[in-house]
Amino acid sequence: MSEHVCPGRCNARPRRQVEEHARAVTAWQKAMAEWIAADPTTRGAEPDRPAEPTLRWTAGTPLWCLNDSAAIRAALTDLDEQMTLRLLAADGHGSLNLEERVSGSVEPPSPSPAHDQLDELVRWLRDWERAYRDTQGWPPAPYRGESAPALTSCVAWLAAHLDGLLAHPDLSVAFGSGVLSWHAEISAAAKTKRRRIAMQMRCPQCHLATLSKLDGEDRIECHNRDCGANRGGPAVLTLDEYAGLAEGALIASGRGAS
Ligand SMILES: [Zn+2]
Ligand SMILES: [Zn+2]
Repeated sequence: MSEHVCPGRCNARPRRQVEEHARAVTAWQKAMAEWIAADPTTRGAEPDRPAEPTLRWTAGTPLWCLNDSAAIRAALTDLDEQMTLRLLAADGHGSLNLEERVSGSVEPPSPSPAHDQLDELVRWLRDWERAYRDTQGWPPAPYRGESAPALTSCVAWLAAHLDGLLAHPDLSVAFGSGVLSWHAEISAAAKTKRRRIAMQMRCPQCHLATLSKLDGEDRIECHNRDCGANRGGPAVLTLDEYAGLAEGALIASGRGAS
């Protein structure tokens, strides 16, 4: 096709079809070699060459398609929050209010993998800002501070120039793919490193002591796989619902305030 093929997730299926077809052709060539070498009086039918797959590629507008451009924008603007969660998860202050942390005073960087990752991400984003400024003949970026404030500031600048970046033939594909993989990496680290806290109250659905929540999250989930089998799955409670549950139990036991 004459248009540019989007390098994003939208083309996962045709890319897989191309790989599968290549594997099928290799297998067919091997079968053909065996067939040719076999005794013509006893060999079976000639192996069929695998049919060419019908490929439906999505074109970019101009490089990434609209869906993947939107995914890159969402990932870029979410980097800030995911990095904050990642730092919270790493330093064990999971219960700290996120808003306080974001707007509060900046702590000096401590030697930790999470802070190293933050510094690496800021360097990576700065390099892209520099590269794009160079292509436009713009002056170098102003000083953007260090650590979390630098991340916020870099992300804001890149988000404001994202359309231009994603339309730039030399920068678009590497920048877009990089943003997506950074986002996947940081959000995975933010999730896996967070502590799961076991809750005291029993599950209102299955009555087992299987309720827990992730540090810093306000969703309480039941981890009994059989919970709510006839009611659409395991129980999920908000903090308020859980508090109501605990209060109800106190009242039921005669110890609660009326
Ligand atoms: Zn796409
Ligand atoms: Zn349950």
